[in-house]
Amino acid sequence: MAELLRAVKGMNDILPPGVPRTEKLPDSALWQWFEATVRSVLGRYGYQNLLTPIVEPTALFVRGLGEVTDIVEKEMYSFVDSMNGDKLTLRPEATAGIVRAMIEHNALYNGPLRIWTMGPMFRHERPQAGRLRQFHQFGVESFGTSDPRADIEVITLLWHLLLDLALPNLTLEINSLGSSGDRAAYKPILLAFLRHQESRLCANCRRRMETNPLRVLDCKVPDCRAVTESAPRLTDHLSPEARTHFDQVLAGLVAIGVPYRLNPRLVRGLDYYCLTSFEITSTHLGAQNAVGAGGRYDGLVKTLGGPSVPAVGFAVGLERVSLMLPEASLSSLNECLYYVAAFGEEGIKLGFVLLDELRGVGISAQCDYRATTLKGHLRQADRSKCRYAILLGDDEAARGSVILRNLESKAQEELPLVGLTSLLKTRTFSP
Ligand code: ATP
Ligand code: MG
Repeated sequence: MAELLRAVKGMNDILPPGVPRTEKLPDSALWQWFEATVRSVLGRYGYQNLLTPIVEPTALFVRGLGEVTDIVEKEMYSFVDSMNGDKLTLRPEATAGIVRAMIEHNALYNGPLRIWTMGPMFRHERPQAGRLRQFHQFGVESFGTSDPRADIEVITLLWHLLLDLALPNLTLEINSLGSSGDRAAYKPILLAFLRHQESRLCANCRRRMETNPLRVLDCKVPDCRAVTESAPRLTDHLSPEARTHFDQVLAGLVAIGVPYRLNPRLVRGLDYYCLTSFEITSTHLGAQNAVGAGGRYDGLVKTLGGPSVPAVGFAVGLERVSLMLPEASLSSLNECLYYVAAFGEEGIKLGFVLLDELRGVGISAQCDYRATTLKGHLRQADRSKCRYAILLGDDEAARGSVILRNLESKAQEELPLVGLTSLLKTRTFSP
C-alpha cells in the first residue's frame, strides 16, 4: 500500500459542503459567500481589487514589519531559492506586498488609491482553534490621504462588512499610537515604568522591553496584562496634531453611528503603524478573539523605498470570521435549484439537453448520471438538496411533458416540455 500523505499541520483543505469533517472549518460554500459579500461591500465603497504573489523577498517583511515583531522573530516560512540563492518568504500578511507592488508600478503618484485584497497568508504558529499556519485574510488599504475621514471610512467599511456577515457580539477597540516623535518621547516613560515591574513580566517581555517596549502592552500573558494595566498611557502623551486627528476620528465614528471602546493598550504588533490603531474583537472567539485589525501606517511606503504617502488599512482573518457565523446564515448557501431526473432511452436524451438549457439561461441544475430508475433518481435528488426535481422518463417524453416535483412538499405538477426552460426562467428570476 502506498504511504498515506496528509496536509501540512495547520494548513487546511476548503472542502465542498457535502464532505463531512470533524473540526469546525469553513467549507467552500461559505468561502464563496464571503467573497460575494466582500465584493458587494467593497463595490459600494469604491475599492479596487489587487492581488500580489504569495512569495516575496524576505527583506520586504523584515524591513516592512520590523525585526522585533512576532511575525519576523518566529513566524515566517522562509527559504532559500536553490536556483539563485534568493531569500524568499511565504507572505505572512498582505500590506507589505501591496505597498511593494504600488511602489514598483509607480501607482502612488496619481492621488488617492483604494485597494482591497484577499488570499492565503502563512505563519509558523502553534496550530489551535482560530490559529492556523495557512489562513486567509481579507484586507483593505487606502493610500494617499492623511485625512481622518480615510480612517473613519476603512473602519466603517469593516464594521458594515462584519454586520453584513451577521457576526454577533462585536466590539471595535480603538487607540492612537501618535506620531513617531510621540512614541519616541513616550518610550522612555513606559520603559522606566516597566523596569520597575521587570520581575513580574514574562521572559519574552523582559527581552523585548529594551528594544520595543510598546510590545509589552500587547502581550497576552495574564501577569503581563496585570502589570501594564496601570502603565502610563500613550494617549496622555500625544502631540496636539495627533490628538486632533484622534478626536476627529472618534467624532466621525460617533456621527456615523459606529460604536467603539477606547483601549489605551492597543498597540498592534507591527512597527509601521502610527496614529489610529484599531481591532475588532468578539466574545464568541475565546482566546483568539481578534477578528480583524488595522490602522494608519503613514511611514511604511517610504520605509520600503517609495514616496512619502500616507495610508490606512486593515486585515480580517476569514477563518476566525467563520468560527463566529451563526449556523442559520449558512443553510441557504450554494443551493442548487433543479435536479433533472432523466431515465429511459428517450427521457435520458431529452433530459440531458434540458439540463444544459437550464444552465444556459442561468438556472442551477444537476443530475446524477449513475441513476437509471425513477427511484434511484429521487434518492439522489434528496441527497443533492435541490429544491425541485424534474422527472422525465419515456412516458413523459411520449406525452411531451415533464413532472415538476417540489422535493420538500412532494407536490407535483405536469408541465409541457416545449417552452419549459423559459417558463422556469420566469419563475426563478421574477417569481
Ligand atoms: P493575534 O493577536 O491573534 O496573533 P495578529 O496581531 O498576529 O493576531 P494580524 O497580523 O493583525 O493578527 O492579522 C489580522 C487578522 O488575521 C487577525 O485579527 C486574525 O483574524 C487573523 N489571523 C492572524 N493570525 C492568524 C492565524 N495564525 N490563523 C488564523 N487567523 C489569523
Ligand atoms: Mg499573531
